[in-house]
Amino acid sequence: MILENGTIRTLDPALPAARALAIAGDLIAGGVGVHETALASPETVDLGGRCVLPGFTDSHVHFPTWAVAQHEVKLDGCTSLDEALARVREATATGTWLRGYGWRSGEWTNGREPTKEDLDAVTGDRPASLIAKDYHSLWLNSAALALAGGDLDVAGGIVERDANGEPTGVLREESAWRFKERYITTPDDEYLTAMRAGVKLTHARGVTCVHDKDGWLGAAGLWQQLGAQLRVWQSVPHETLPALDALSLHSGLGSLLRIGYLKVFMDGTLGSRTAWMLDGSGVQITSGDELAEIVRAGAEAGWPVGVHAIGDRANREALDAFEQTRDVWEPRGLRQRIEHCQLLSPEDLPRFAELGVTASVQFSHAPSDRDLADRFWAGKTGGAYAFRSLLDSGAVVVNGSDAPIEELDPLAGVRAGVRRSIDERPAWHPEQALTVEQAFHATCVDPRGSPATSASAEPCSRATPLTSSSSIATPGTTSTRRSSRRWSPAAGCTTRRPGTGEPGSLSSTRFASFGFA
Ligand SMILES: [Zn+2]
Repeated sequence: MILENGTIRTLDPALPAARALAIAGDLIAGGVGVHETALASPETVDLGGRCVLPGFTDSHVHFPTWAVAQHEVKLDGCTSLDEALARVREATATGTWLRGYGWRSGEWTNGREPTKEDLDAVTGDRPASLIAKDYHSLWLNSAALALAGGDLDVAGGIVERDANGEPTGVLREESAWRFKERYITTPDDEYLTAMRAGVKLTHARGVTCVHDKDGWLGAAGLWQQLGAQLRVWQSVPHETLPALDALSLHSGLGSLLRIGYLKVFMDGTLGSRTAWMLDGSGVQITSGDELAEIVRAGAEAGWPVGVHAIGDRANREALDAFEQTRDVWEPRGLRQRIEHCQLLSPEDLPRFAELGVTASVQFSHAPSDRDLADRFWAGKTGGAYAFRSLLDSGAVVVNGSDAPIEELDPLAGVRAGVRRSIDERPAWHPEQALTVEQAFHATCVDPRGSPATSASAEPCSRATPLTSSSSIATPGTTSTRRSSRRWSPAAGCTTRRPGTGEPGSLSSTRFASFGFA
């Protein structure tokens, strides 16, 4: 197959752009004029002037949760409690539970926290659970709360209470998660149906690989049941390490679905005001010393760590832990990651590059969190979502959506990284804006592994077809295709650095075709 009459942007400095591209079987054969004669009967695709880019990797996604959330009440963008309640009242989805997500009380005009009584008025006796936009708070009605029989408190959790000591209906952090785990179950069939539809949407948005964070809910098993449809780099909870080690399993197990890294949480979030801060506020979920132990034990068993850190204290403690254990993981070539890196104190910023710890960030979060950050982190936002500074310091920066917190839409992420605004307002901290090329690099190239190992349109890269029913054009910009088969060249001849935390199959060329340049 030859893609012609467009611009092929390889994101490889050795050959940044080509006019056409040949794909032979499952291999990228290189620029046309070199290999096309090797093709038996070259099928051509007229790009009509459109641009072809390497396939996107979403480096932070809760895929099963996102897929199911497509069918829940969306409270995103509500400007008041009343608006949120109106949407719940109109909910049409059936089932035992009334479920929703995306509320953010900090952005509501009336400025108070929601309560179970608010919800009771619109839900009646049907148990209702509404997850906050940052997924770290749960708003329940009385019917739902009653299921716990008062057993709500847990270490690392917060139970909001009124003046009489009665739970208000809002649980945060561990309290929220334990409640969810115990009482709000989703059957596998519901996940699988939602994931099947989700994979199609993901392909349509040019995504060929996801770094999934839902290991805790059994995502690996769900992917396995679904069959290979996307490249998946899967997290597993760090608590499972002893079992993995007992079976002599290490990072990289699998091919399209790869079981990759241990997930740990240092703290909460900005929106729930549970980020662990140097000023002493927030919630500590894992201490620096505990993390150091987890990193050390993980490294000895061959597992890298991806650790969630939002507040400046959480990031410092995580960096300290990686520094203390460097002698164990560095010689093994493990690629450690901090997820989110939302607030960094100036002296910690260069440490990502110094230590070789990847900054796994979400470009979309900066403009969507700007108002909350200006409020809760007043005077500190110079080090908030400091993507450009991280890149300038030499850090490896990879981009994800954190879907369902933001939509699984890499082009929206790239736009947010470049514009630092998602509305008509000027860029928020424009000094942290990225170039288009930097934003695409963090979305297409760097998630694969070390930048030094990234390949692009090199001959002998491997091409993998997407499912025949999927399309890989962006909405409204359908690319011209004469074939019913859709292709997403993937995998390749590039080898990973021995022992790196990320699989070689991600260190290779993936292309999708898009109608924009
Ligand atoms: Zn996440």
